[in-house]
Amino acid sequence: DRNFTGQGKERLNHMKLLEERIRQEGIVKSGSVLKVDSFINHKVDPFLMKEIGKDFADHGITKIVTIESSGIAPALTTAIEMGIPMVILKKQPSKVLNKNLYQTMVTSFTKGTSYELTLSAEQIDETDHVLIIDDFLANGEAATGAIRLLRKAHATVAGLGILIEKSFQPGRDKLKEQGIHVYSLARISKLAENYIEFIPEEV
Ligand code: 5GP
Repeated sequence: DRNFTGQGKERLNHMKLLEERIRQEGIVKSGSVLKVDSFINHKVDPFLMKEIGKDFADHGITKIVTIESSGIAPALTTAIEMGIPMVILKKQPSKVLNKNLYQTMVTSFTKGTSYELTLSAEQIDETDHVLIIDDFLANGEAATGAIRLLRKAHATVAGLGILIEKSFQPGRDKLKEQGIHVYSLARISKLAENYIEFIPEEV
C-alpha cells in the first residue's frame, strides 16, 4: 500500500481538490507562468497542505528535502505525516554555514536568474533515502539541482513529489531520463489566457 507510487482512492480526491482550487484561484501570467499566490505561494492554505502531506507520505524514506521557500509548507506536512525530518535546501547560504557545504548552481524559471543551492553535509548522508518535494515542476532545473546535491551527499533519491506540473515543459522527461520517479498531484497540459487544461489522472 505505497501511497507515493500507488493509486489510492483518497489520493484522487486530493488531486481533484487541488485541480479545483487551481481552476478557481489560479491566474495565468505571460510566459507560461501560473500564479497561485492565494493558496500556495504567498498566502498558504494549511488544510490543503495537510491533505497534500497525506498524499506524498510513503514508506522507507528517511528525510524529506525541499527547496526554499514555496516547497516548505507541503514538505513539512509530509514530514509530519511520516514522522521524519525535513531538510530545506538554501538559496542564500548564511555566513555561519561555511564548513562542509555542498553547492550547485540552478537557473530559476520564473525569475530568469541563477542562484547557488546549498546543503550542509551535516544534515544528509549516505544512510538517507530522500523524497524531494516542491511546488512546481517546469524545466526541472530546481529538482535536478537538488538531486545533484543529494548525490554529492551520497544519499539515494526515492522520487520527486510535485504539487503542480506544467507538462508542456521538459521537466518530467529530464528527470525520467535520470531514472527519477515523478509524482505530480496536478498536471497541466495547456496554459492560456483564462484557460487551464489538466491531464486526466489514470485510475
Ligand atoms: P524548474 O526548475 O522546474 O524550471 O522550475 C521550478 C521552480 O520554478 C519552482 O520551484 C517554482 O518556484 C518556480 N516555477 C516554475 N514555474 C512556475 C509557475 O508557473 N508558477 C509559479 N508560481 N512558480 C513557478
